[in-house]
Amino acid sequence: MADGIKRAQQTFEQLRWTGYLTVHIAWQGRVPFKSADALRRAQTRNVEGAIRHAYLTVPFYRDTMRRLGLTPPDIITADDLLKLPIVEREQVQRDPEYFTSEGRPLSEYLKRQSSGSTGAPITVFEDRGALVRGVVLAQRQRAILTSLVGRPFGYRSTMIAAPTSAIREREALFRVLTWFPRPLRTQRQFLSVFDPPEVAVWHLNEFRPHVIGASGSYLDALFTYLHETRAAFHRPKVVVFAGEGISDAVRRIVSREFGIPVLGLYQAVEVGNIAFECQHNSGYHVNTDICPLRIVGTEGEPLAPGEVGDVIVSNLVNRATVVLNYRLGDLASMLPEACGCGRTLPLLSAIEGRSDDWIELADGRQINPLSACVAFRKEAEVWRFRLTQRAPGDFRVAVVVAPDADRSEMTTRLRGRLQANLGTDAQVEIEFVDAIEPLPGGKHKAVVRKDVLLR
Ligand SMILES: [Zn+2]
Repeated sequence: MADGIKRAQQTFEQLRWTGYLTVHIAWQGRVPFKSADALRRAQTRNVEGAIRHAYLTVPFYRDTMRRLGLTPPDIITADDLLKLPIVEREQVQRDPEYFTSEGRPLSEYLKRQSSGSTGAPITVFEDRGALVRGVVLAQRQRAILTSLVGRPFGYRSTMIAAPTSAIREREALFRVLTWFPRPLRTQRQFLSVFDPPEVAVWHLNEFRPHVIGASGSYLDALFTYLHETRAAFHRPKVVVFAGEGISDAVRRIVSREFGIPVLGLYQAVEVGNIAFECQHNSGYHVNTDICPLRIVGTEGEPLAPGEVGDVIVSNLVNRATVVLNYRLGDLASMLPEACGCGRTLPLLSAIEGRSDDWIELADGRQINPLSACVAFRKEAEVWRFRLTQRAPGDFRVAVVVAPDADRSEMTTRLRGRLQANLGTDAQVEIEFVDAIEPLPGGKHKAVVRKDVLLR
């Protein structure tokens, strides 16, 4: 009898989410083109819902808002979120449950964990609604993918992820929560980031995906291998990268030499879908209605478009772990111009550094790691680089370059440009290497401070 009731409840939940998906996916691809007013109205609705939920059920927000004398009617718009303190990653890392709703038992939530490339991994909880809504929101970029693939359903997609990633569990839970006839489902292949490129290529040639999704650093390794070996390779219709960015040189190889469009996705375990790239590749469209984002300076002051600073985001979707006004630790800027694609969602620059990577100069000044990265921008023959700060004003640069690159000319050029940005008295040692190993956790970073590396 109890089993019968449980089955009936499951069927009801499945029907409910399938209905929700069918209705919402249909128009989600058009949301990024809505008027700024309509997006702001949706954002305000979402802020109100998230704040009410946080105040009533999330211990951190209940305590903080009471301490500050705030109640839900005080926080109506995304700007009002500034009344709350900025939440640091370490706070959530130390005590994720303090940021998690008591509305349901923890065991009902899906546990997600980040790879922890720069320190201890972070754990957050996601509710079932956020999982399904995440799939709906992903339609904003999926609409671009499916137009490149040439069909809206039933295509093949390969995901290359860390074995610790919750991507398989999320997919499995999604399949339990919803029901779609087999021909409409996306067929998935999961590969591991620890597979060497030649193994991945073998699997990809077997599966013949329309879409490949992977971290930028894995795509770097994969396409550098393909470029060098000319191995037979099934070409997908589009490549999507998330996590740390793909290098400019490899991006050019993928799009020009292989003729495959490349799209970036900005997401984080703590906040879900933040922003996505369209086929114009001019920046990342921020999902402002569900994930308001602002850029602040070192004192928390708001920065103007074009100025690089800390990315602060709020997740208005997740009803398990709630993070509002959250410092991701990434550095980026809002781009002042509109995108040629017609989407009204504002544009964010590529993420090129982490705020814990600020470089220390010999005179004690701290500068943004982007100042070092720009030295490599126009170098088509630099496939990958890593600048490691050994001491203030003392740097080692490892570079992986094309086999026919003129190394001595490149050394002079790079040293000149780096010293222009890091100070003429900066020690810059340039070393040509065959490969740059990822950091613990599998991530590549272009700029590393030794103390960060050792943490
Ligand atoms: Zn666009």
